[in-house]
Amino acid sequence: MKFVFDRVNLKALTKELVALRRDLHRYPESGWTEYRTTVRLLEELETLGVPVRFGEEIHHRVTMYGLPDEKYDRDCYQRVLQECGREDLLSKMKGGFTGCVAEIEGAHPGPVVAFRMDIDCNDVGETQDVGHFPVREGFQSLHPNLMHACGHDGHAAIGIGAIRLLLAYRDQIHGTVRIIFQPAEEGLRGAASITNSGALDGVDWIFGGHIGLKLNELGAVAASSRGFLASTKFDVTFKGRAAHAGASPEMGHNALAAASTAVLNLLAIPRHSGGSSRINIGTLHGGTGRNVIPEEAVMTLETRGLTTEINEYMSAAAERVCKSAAAMYECGYESRFMGAAGCAVCDPELVGRVIRSLKTVEGISRIEEDFDFAGGEDFTTMMSRVQSKGGKATEMVFGCPIKAPHHNGFFDFDEQVIPLAAQAVAKIVLDLCSESDAK
Ligand SMILES: [Zn+2]
Ligand SMILES: [Zn+2]
Repeated sequence: MKFVFDRVNLKALTKELVALRRDLHRYPESGWTEYRTTVRLLEELETLGVPVRFGEEIHHRVTMYGLPDEKYDRDCYQRVLQECGREDLLSKMKGGFTGCVAEIEGAHPGPVVAFRMDIDCNDVGETQDVGHFPVREGFQSLHPNLMHACGHDGHAAIGIGAIRLLLAYRDQIHGTVRIIFQPAEEGLRGAASITNSGALDGVDWIFGGHIGLKLNELGAVAASSRGFLASTKFDVTFKGRAAHAGASPEMGHNALAAASTAVLNLLAIPRHSGGSSRINIGTLHGGTGRNVIPEEAVMTLETRGLTTEINEYMSAAAERVCKSAAAMYECGYESRFMGAAGCAVCDPELVGRVIRSLKTVEGISRIEEDFDFAGGEDFTTMMSRVQSKGGKATEMVFGCPIKAPHHNGFFDFDEQVIPLAAQAVAKIVLDLCSESDAK
């Protein structure tokens, strides 16, 4: 008893979704600067006649974590103005208010079902290797040092695909479908702002999904995830005093030495016996010249833990290490919170229903009940909010072959996952909004 979306030409839809994905891939945008991406989505939704909210009204200014600096933001905004015009739409997003929330009103009353797709790219340069599929097909990134290396271009296309399928079956929808295109997932920055804006109010069921990861078989789908790592991201600035390195080194306070001392000791934080933990210092920049005692050093780091407590243990230890290293070299120290997410547990009731729906989707050959996520995902913020109000949540994984690890310049995924995941999402929504569920 497979369900067939026979009101839609799936072949034609697949072609259009792949084209959309490739277009987004060519113009990747980092968290909070997804201006063009949002414009593209708004244009698609407008064509489809789907009401959509965007701009400041779907954000909560105070919890827009890890915004880029103003100059970078301005440059991105100007670039997009040149790329696509559409100042009418862009002016509403100025200052990082990217992403959008679409809503399909079903023909009949019923629950509110939400799904979330993230849309940002990574700060990674895409390879120019001719063997790389996007290069071969001519849709590689046009933006230096930015790349969709996590598949969020695919997520956006899946979201639009699911919307198109659902619109064809609107007469069968008992309830409301809310689709959240979330900015700034990388670095766990965007979910809190959307959540705190009230965009999830009234949601009875919410689910999200990621493609690839360690599930690398097309047709395999995990109905839920476990092992989300709680994570905290922060930037640390060490402030010293510059001095002549030959004539008066004793007058200087070496910020780079403080930072380097911190790096080694951060990696030496004793691990927690309660479960897995991680720490990474991703970047370190310092100093201005060979013969100058470095005045400033800036590092970006993150901690993770299997539980919120373990992550808090790691981040508190990290703060202590940075502070102590700064003191050793008589440097100042400043830590800036850039993003975070906690853990969340998927609801068995929703997972059971998702599994039942997945069984009816043509092309899904293997269903896993849960997937060991072993990473951070700020969708947990949305899950927790919906759960705290009595709703149910789950995070799925759509299996597909990938060419290189996520966040790598050679990353690429099998585009056939897009129509498949779109159908899975649409079928889950249709089932959650079926007549028998209408209250
Ligand atoms: Zn991702
Ligand atoms: Zn990622």
